Amino acid sequence: MLEMQLFSDTTNTFSMGKITAEDIDAIKNQPDCPICLDTLQDKTYQVTKTNPCPKSHYFHFNCLKSNAVSVLKFENNKFRCALCQTDIINMGYVLKALVYPPKPEVLELFYRGKELLKKSHTNPEYNVDLAINLLTQSIKRGYVQAKPFLAEALFLSGKLSLKHALEPPYFHDLLTTAASFFKRSLDEGYIQAKPFLIEAIRLSDPLDRSPGT
Ligand SMILES: [Zn+2]
Ligand SMILES: [Zn+2]
Repeated sequence: MLEMQLFSDTTNTFSMGKITAEDIDAIKNQPDCPICLDTLQDKTYQVTKTNPCPKSHYFHFNCLKSNAVSVLKFENNKFRCALCQTDIINMGYVLKALVYPPKPEVLELFYRGKELLKKSHTNPEYNVDLAINLLTQSIKRGYVQAKPFLAEALFLSGKLSLKHALEPPYFHDLLTTAASFFKRSLDEGYIQAKPFLIEAIRLSDPLDRSPGT
C-alpha cells in the first residue's frame, strides 16, 4: 500500500494521510512521477499530491522535496507544478523547510509575532500592528507556516479600524483602512473576514447604497 503525505494549505503543513479510491484512479491515469519518471505505484515510495492544482497531480514525496530545494535555491517565490504549471510556492517552502529547517532568527520573528497576536486578542491597540510586521517578515524569509497567523492578525487590525470608525469621535476614513485589512485577511484565506469586508465597504460608501449592488 502506498503512503501519502498530504499538504494542508490552511495550516501549511504535511501529515500522513490515506490514499483514497479517487487517488488510486488518478494514479492509474498518471502512473509515473513527473520528476524521476519512475513508477508511483511502488510500495517503497511515499507519494504526495498537489492540492492547489485544479486536478491533483502526483509526485514521489522525496522527488518533489529535492525539486523544491533546488528550485528555491535559485528562484525566490517561484515553484510550479511540473505538469500543469500551477503555482505551488507554499508547498515548495514547506518542503524546503523539511530539508533545511528555518533559521533561528526567522523562527524568533514568527514566535514573537504569534505571541503578540495572542495578546492582541485582549489588547489590539497595543500589539496588533507589530504582530503583523513580525509575521510578515517571517513569511518573507520563507516561513509560510506563519500565513494563517498573519491572516488572523490582519483581521483583528481590520476590526480595530472598524471600531474607531464607528465609535466617537468617528474616524470615518478608517472604514477604507478596515476594508483593506479585511481584504488582505480574506486573500490570506481567513474566510471569517468576508462579512466584515462587505460591511466595511457598504459603510464606507453610504451614497452608493443602491439595492442589489
Ligand atoms: Zn520520483
Ligand atoms: Zn498540477
